[in-house]
Order: sequence, then structure tokens, then C-alpha cells
Amino acid sequence: MEVIQTKKELREFRNGVRGSLGFVPTMGALHEGHAALIRQSAGENERTVVSIFVNPMQFGPREDLAKYPRPFERDLDICRETGANVVYAPDHADIYPAGFGSAVEVSGVGDHWCGASRPGHFVGVATVVLKLLNRVQPDRLYLGQKDAQQAALLDKMVLDLDLETEVVVCPTIRGAGGLALSSRNQYLSPGEKAAAPALYRALMECGRQIKMGQTSPQKIAEIFQGLLPGYDGWRLDYFGVADPVTMSPVPVIDRKVRLLAAAFLGTTRLIDNISAGPGLEPG
Ligand code: AMP
Repeated sequence: MEVIQTKKELREFRNGVRGSLGFVPTMGALHEGHAALIRQSAGENERTVVSIFVNPMQFGPREDLAKYPRPFERDLDICRETGANVVYAPDHADIYPAGFGSAVEVSGVGDHWCGASRPGHFVGVATVVLKLLNRVQPDRLYLGQKDAQQAALLDKMVLDLDLETEVVVCPTIRGAGGLALSSRNQYLSPGEKAAAPALYRALMECGRQIKMGQTSPQKIAEIFQGLLPGYDGWRLDYFGVADPVTMSPVPVIDRKVRLLAAAFLGTTRLIDNISAGPGLEPG
């Protein structure tokens, strides 16, 4: 496995690739969720590139950029073990050289949920991912369903901007109690870790109510809110019932939807989402 730090070296690698190339963009602090994406890419492509870059442009001024975990050597071990051929770990100046001044805005998909509660976040995500796609030029881009709105937004960006890459969205990998794996779970205290699966349980209970015939997003939101504050330390950021493609709120649940939630547990912000629909098994 090669570790590459510059755009120039990456271009040299790209020019030598003959078969299909898979790409897994990450911010490092890799866990089983990332590992699953890398394994899938390695299984479906001749070569796989993993990028590790904690992108300042997608963090708000009061967010956790400075304390975001950066266990680089361990990340390299995981990439090696899961079948990556190249880790692209650029520094800030390689991605944002002096004078950089462009931004990518994808309309619609980012209007609600994380887009509303983290202003500028999706512009930062879309900008860095477009730059990375232009550099890596992958045949396939692997994204996690854990960040469903991000995946929907990047899918739209790829479509809108005629990028020659197939977007592959992989299932959310969960740990004990159903908690979605996240690099940010490291911030949780042992007590918070024990409480954290409540977010997933509340989503699943809402999914079961929808399966059994509840069609009102308002009622479902009430049920969700009734379930979550029962646990100490929770502060709800948002809960929403959205169309799985456009990510707009739905007026009535008469087809497959995504239930999306974000909540602070202490100072840690957790997000999760599941699929649900009338007569459908949630998950
Ligand atoms: P991040 O490093 O958090 O920016 O995530 C990099 C990629 O890994 C994104 O496409 C995420 O959606 C995906 N990812 C993160 N956590 C999980 C998980 N628990 N299951 C599946 N994919 C994940």
C-alpha cells in the first residue's frame, strides 16, 4: 500500500491505473464502518484509494475541528488490512492552496436537517469531495448510509455536474445496542456510551409505528420526542421524516421514507437514520 500526500503523486498513480478504481473519502479515525466501505471497494475494483483529510471547510466555528481524532498510523493499518492500494492524505495546503476561493452549492437536498443545523457544512462537503473526485477520478465512489443526507447530496452533485463516477451507498455498520459507529463515539463517556443506542431504538420504534399504519409525520415526531428525552443528557437537534432521494420533509407517509435524527448526548452530536414505510420492516 502506498501513502501519497500530494496532488502530483496522486496524478502519477492515477495515470498508471488500468482497471476500475474505487474511492472511499474519509476524515480518518477509521472504524468498522469505514472498513466495510474499503472492503466493498476492494472487492469490486482493481484498485482502491482511501483519502484521509479532516476538512476544515465542513466544520462550523464552534464545532470539533481541533479535537477531531487523528490516529494516523492506526488508520493506515486498517487501510492495509482491508485492501486499500493507496491512502491519499493531503495536508491543508495541498487541498486549499493560498488564494483558493471556490465553493460548490448543491441546491435542495441540503436545505433541511444537517444542512439547517450546520450552516455551510454541505458546501464544505461538496467542495472537498468534488476536488477529491477530480483528482482521484474514480469509477466508483463509496459512501455510507450512516450519513444519508450527505450521500443523497453527493449523488445529486455527481448527476448535476456530469461526473463520471458511480455512487455506491453502503449500509450503516452498527455496534453494541445498534449504535451507529462513528469517529465521534470516542468522545462519549462510558455512561453516555451505554445511553447512546437510545437514538437508534427510538428511530426503530417510529419505524414500527409506520409499518403498522401511522402515516402522520407529526405523530411520528411526537412519538420520537417522547422516547428520547426519557434518557439523561439528551438534547434533540432534529428529527425528520424525509423523501429518501430529495431529503425534503414529506406531508404524509404513504411510501418509503427516511427517518433522520440528530441529538447531542452531553457535548457529543450523534446522527442516525433508518428506512421506513407502510408495511415495511424498518432498518
Ligand atoms: P467520515 O470519516 O465520518 O467523513 O466518513 C467517511 C465515510 O464513511 C462516509 O461516507 C460515511 O458515511 C461513512 N461511514 C461513517 N460511519 C459509518 C458507518 N457506521 N457505517 C457505514 N458507513 C459509515
